[in-house]
Amino acid sequence: MAKTTLHCSFCGRSRDEVKILIAGQEGHICENCVEHAREIIEQELMIRSETPAASPSFKLNVKKPVEVKRFLDEYVIGQDDAKKVLAVAVYNHYKRLQQKVAEGEVDIEKSNIVMVGETGTGKTLLAKTIAKLLNVPFAIVDATVFTEAGYVGEDVESILTRLLQVCNYDVPAAERGIVYIDEIDKIARKGDNPSITRDVSGEGVQQGLLKLLEGTDVLVPPQGGRKHPEQKLIKINTQNILFICGGAFDGIDRVIARRVNTNAIGFNVNKDLQEHMKKNLLQYINATDLKSFGLIPELLGRLPVVTHLNPLDKPTLRSILTEPKNALIKQYKRLFELENIQLNVDEDVLDFMVDKALEYKLGARGLRSICESILTDAMFEMPSSKQQVFHLTLEYAVKKFDKSKMSLLKVA
Ligand code: ADP
Repeated sequence: MAKTTLHCSFCGRSRDEVKILIAGQEGHICENCVEHAREIIEQELMIRSETPAASPSFKLNVKKPVEVKRFLDEYVIGQDDAKKVLAVAVYNHYKRLQQKVAEGEVDIEKSNIVMVGETGTGKTLLAKTIAKLLNVPFAIVDATVFTEAGYVGEDVESILTRLLQVCNYDVPAAERGIVYIDEIDKIARKGDNPSITRDVSGEGVQQGLLKLLEGTDVLVPPQGGRKHPEQKLIKINTQNILFICGGAFDGIDRVIARRVNTNAIGFNVNKDLQEHMKKNLLQYINATDLKSFGLIPELLGRLPVVTHLNPLDKPTLRSILTEPKNALIKQYKRLFELENIQLNVDEDVLDFMVDKALEYKLGARGLRSICESILTDAMFEMPSSKQQVFHLTLEYAVKKFDKSKMSLLKVA
């Protein structure tokens, strides 16, 4: 027999089976085992940082509802009902965190929230702004990517992975964070009668969410997903995590209409009136409507606060352009200012932008692309020019807009 071949002292693979074999004093290690060891070290360090002492930077910043609303007003235009409901729910939630429940005392329950409103009306913005105010970790997740455990897609636990990642695996901080679950309406039950086929991305996910929302210990894979079966799980208690869910719930106005006995559909109803009714109907929304839409009662029981956001009309869109603290026009002015150029925007340009956003059905989200399409050329040329003032006129705006790709987006 020839001389014995070298082996990895950890996994036993021979020299031929591995790419690299590093020699130690009395043994060898292959590249696979080095990689594996590195992952173990990372996870160990991560879990050790779980201790509360590791998060001295975390300080809860509880504000009174009026202050919360005032802060929200700086960033979000309109949506007063939603702001009030959110301010109260958030205040109560964090008050609850601060009280130490003695034996026999009233235990205040968590008030997770559902926000219903068309896309682009400010749901995410509201949740994000609240998290900014409170100085708590905030994660946004999309409900559409989840499936029931065991099926292709993500497990609901990865919601908490996201939260852990934003606060650098600081578990005590994550345990007081806020999670915004977008598109909650997309996991509505498909059809009313339970069929033989399993509804793995609808009701199955709702069942999975129950556990997270009610407040228990959940074992979370630190890297998310199911690709790393060897990773050590981190235990997170969700009792003090505030969940805010948002969704467009397309067609829910008909459900509300049926309940409040108003007929929203018909040949004689004119479009404007229908739109107006739709806007008004949303304010009557309650948990029953969400149940008819396909959310299971157990889940709704854990989402006790329901609020709505109004569709954005012309004056609101106009204000969004100029009023919020980081309004789009203010941002562009600042960008120009950094080049020592003063940007002046004519009033009728603002009206034009709003009209286009409405005409192309782009909502508030489209305002940004419209601004870009108008100002890109100017931003391209300005830094190399000697000009000190840039005057944005309607004529210039129309010309640039018509030339841009945006103008092709027109909805028939
Ligand atoms: P949603 O979550 O309802 O789909 P977003 O909150 O993501 O909508 O809104 C998209 C963008 O539109 C925001 O980033 C913001 O710039 C703007 N926006 C929407 N609604 C408002 C509002 N009420 N006030 C100020 N900005 C808004």
